[in-house]
Amino acid sequence: MDESYCATPAAPASATEAVPGGPPYAECVLCRKPTEYPESTRGATLCPVCEWQEAGRTACSG
Ligand SMILES: [Zn+2]
Repeated sequence: MDESYCATPAAPASATEAVPGGPPYAECVLCRKPTEYPESTRGATLCPVCEWQEAGRTACSG
């Protein structure tokens, strides 16, 4: 009887969990909430909400 089995490595921690020492994603430059962009993203990062508001602002200007 072959009882060998593969020990699967522990599942990685959920990405949605807050990581001590800093969030995994860049902060929104307006509301400081985590964005969908990684911290390595260059330039201003906006969360989906602020991004949407900025887009509407730009579309309405002029
Ligand atoms: Zn925001």
